Amino acid sequence: MKVPIIMTPGPTSVRENVRLSRAEKTTNPDLDMDFYDFYKKTTEKIGKFLKTKNEVRILSGEGILGLEAACASLTEKGDRVLVIENGIFGEGFADFVKMYGGEPFFFRGNKKCSINIEELERFLDSDSEFKYATVVHCDTPSGMLNNVGAICKLLKKKGIMTVVDSVSAMGGEELKVDEWDIDIVIGGSQKCISAPPGLTIVSISDDAFSAMKNRKTPIASFYCNLLVWEDYYNKKWFPYTPPISDIVALRKAVENILEEKDIIARHDKIASATRAAVVLGGLEIYIEDGFSNTVTVIKVPHGMNDDKILSYMKENYNVMIAGAFDYLKGKVLRIGHMGENAYVDKVSYTLFALQRTLEHYGFEFKRDMVKVFLEKV
Ligand SMILES: *Cc1c(COP(=O)(O)O)cnc(C)c1O
Repeated sequence: MKVPIIMTPGPTSVRENVRLSRAEKTTNPDLDMDFYDFYKKTTEKIGKFLKTKNEVRILSGEGILGLEAACASLTEKGDRVLVIENGIFGEGFADFVKMYGGEPFFFRGNKKCSINIEELERFLDSDSEFKYATVVHCDTPSGMLNNVGAICKLLKKKGIMTVVDSVSAMGGEELKVDEWDIDIVIGGSQKCISAPPGLTIVSISDDAFSAMKNRKTPIASFYCNLLVWEDYYNKKWFPYTPPISDIVALRKAVENILEEKDIIARHDKIASATRAAVVLGGLEIYIEDGFSNTVTVIKVPHGMNDDKILSYMKENYNVMIAGAFDYLKGKVLRIGHMGENAYVDKVSYTLFALQRTLEHYGFEFKRDMVKVFLEKV
């Protein structure tokens, strides 16, 4: 298979040592007690960069599994759930809530700005009878970063548990699960963590486990049941055979992250330089504030076609960036500078390819994007 340079907001490219560890010889992960220690140690290492003492689990399924599992495990029929929304993934949580019998109530933000904390506080003063709330850390289609620290602390003060989708932020943005009082946070292997797709990471607080145990009705799922994972280590029992090769690769990717001095600072620097290059070059960023450090979302220049731009870039420069879907379809181009993609060489080549491509379709740049990027980075 001919593989392009993937500069999409996930899946990201996978470092060689992670790819090679996926090929290691493996044991029977259900029956070999050593694997229980390997798994537990891996979750502890993840807990380290999530800054949490909460229990962490690695589930066999892409990030969506973690989102559904959180909602399936917490929601009972008739539960009121606050869905904080300023983007596509934010809105999507309501479907999971409904699927498991809950009643979603929206707090809708402006889709071009991060969630306004004062407005949320006013809303909660009028109604805070919610079992839990959902919020997205980085809403990837628009590149919107929400201040989940302020949001989750505020909700906890009101006695509301929180479920945070950090799939495209975990590993690239600051995330302090304990300090921020986050009950459940969900990550994916294939975004900033830069392991192959297929695993979801979930950290679960004591309050969240208690809520699951105090349900009046059983959790209406097995694969999406987080409670069956609570005591796996003492029982030496996994609910299903863990995908051992994927977990060995994830462990290496997590070690790569922990070995780096400051991975958040790297993302921050690359992201600011990318935004500067885009704006000074004469293009427009889609959102107005809340710019994420993991993805930059650019408006498609007037009169141009996103599909044509994307295929021209791939065919002529072997680099792949992304468009978007839903209400953003055809309107934006997305550069994912997360995890293994967030390096000077890869991003500058991507900006070069994007500039040449847009010039081919008639766009006149005000400044050379690569030049600006290299000055700023
Ligand atoms: C990538 C991502 C997911 C997982 O969704 P897929 O489209 O299946 O990869 C969930 N939430 C967010 C915010 C994401 O960026």
